[in-house]
Amino acid sequence: MTFERYGTMNVNEAGHLEIGGVDTLELAKRYGTPLYVYDVALIRERARGFKQTFAELNVQAQVAYASKAFSSVAMYELMAEEGLSLDVVSGGELYTAIQAGFPAERIHFHGNNKTLDEMEMALDYQIGCIVIDNFYEIELLKNLLKERKTKIQVLIRVTPGIEAHTHDYILTGQDDSKFGFGLTNGQAERAIEEVLGNADVFDCIGLHCHIGSQIFETTGFIMAAHRIMEQLIVWHNKLGFDSKVLNLGGGFGVRYTEEDEPLEPEVYVREIVKEVKKMALANGLSIPEIWIEPGRSLVGEAGTTLYKVGSRKEVPGIRNYLAVDGGMSDNIRPALYEAHYEAVLAASPLKEAEETVAIAGKCCESGDMLIWDLPLPKSSAGEVLAVFCTGAYGYSMANNYNRIPRPPVVFVEDGVSRLVVRRESYEDLVRNDLPLY
Ligand SMILES: *Cc1c(COP(=O)(O)O)cnc(C)c1O
Repeated sequence: MTFERYGTMNVNEAGHLEIGGVDTLELAKRYGTPLYVYDVALIRERARGFKQTFAELNVQAQVAYASKAFSSVAMYELMAEEGLSLDVVSGGELYTAIQAGFPAERIHFHGNNKTLDEMEMALDYQIGCIVIDNFYEIELLKNLLKERKTKIQVLIRVTPGIEAHTHDYILTGQDDSKFGFGLTNGQAERAIEEVLGNADVFDCIGLHCHIGSQIFETTGFIMAAHRIMEQLIVWHNKLGFDSKVLNLGGGFGVRYTEEDEPLEPEVYVREIVKEVKKMALANGLSIPEIWIEPGRSLVGEAGTTLYKVGSRKEVPGIRNYLAVDGGMSDNIRPALYEAHYEAVLAASPLKEAEETVAIAGKCCESGDMLIWDLPLPKSSAGEVLAVFCTGAYGYSMANNYNRIPRPPVVFVEDGVSRLVVRRESYEDLVRNDLPLY
């Protein structure tokens, strides 16, 4: 029986939800709940899809995994195996990548407030490039590089004045964002002049922009590519600046619920490449290397969280609450962004719904809800609930609110499960605590 959801997800002979050829009830029994389960084949498929599309279009490219979506040693190993590059945004992510043996030359460092320590760390590890975000960073990095008598590749992050709000695009005259240099207010040009003026320490290879997240259309990317290419023509003539690399960021949408209708990831790539080529050819520029930075679209749909159902509270005439053994401590997105999810009972994913329930977490917050209206068959305590599409910004935003230990992470592939992040223990929770006396 096939079960049309994500990747290798299926219903096995026992009628249970299966991922990567492994019964999810077995996973819940073996590793406990809550548990994050990743479908490795689906991640590989996505990674290869992006890479192959660039190859077919015959453009130089790098696909960098925006690792804030889910950062762990095993995930970095998997991305390295698939030949991807890596975006990190903190010393912690960089450290994890180095621990995973990720090739340093394929690591890109982002962030709007990289500390001196973090920049030194990036230079020590000789990472591939730093994405410069602001004037303070130019000064800090310049002095550091001069002191060390070294040089590093940099991209300059610009805000192209296009903001994607998932379905519509706002063209902002004033670039009201904490990230990057405004293209329209002249800051980007000043940044480029400063970086080019310090060619002894900066090897300025190109520009970067990121217009938003969970975007379902290609329009915003095309607009951003068009806008930047337009500007590059000006800077080519005025400053003699040729951008070897054009990084258009991430943000490709995924399907959390039936209402989401994302495009195939490859469609974004094709449209971006088409616009860049068109603009380059029309203006006698060489076609830059195109970089993208998918996070959510690489790992989001590949992740499923398994919970155990516990207490039930019926509010007559209003709502029936079903509480699970996790919540905003392992998935803060519903509380933070009003994100929507879908779920099934792992033991009977095809069974018809008999009621609508609200899935509550176990934290002491009324806002600690995972799903407000979930059609579900009648369930009893102890049954396993599988919440879909939790692979991005789930574990990476997990926290110890109410001193709840963070759940473990398991990778499944070809009928085999591998524990890749252990469950936190109570001892872990007090590891950094010191007694008063
Ligand atoms: C968050 C982020 C991404 C990834 O976004 P997704 O929506 O997860 O694809 C890529 N680039 C930058 C600079 C980001 O901040």
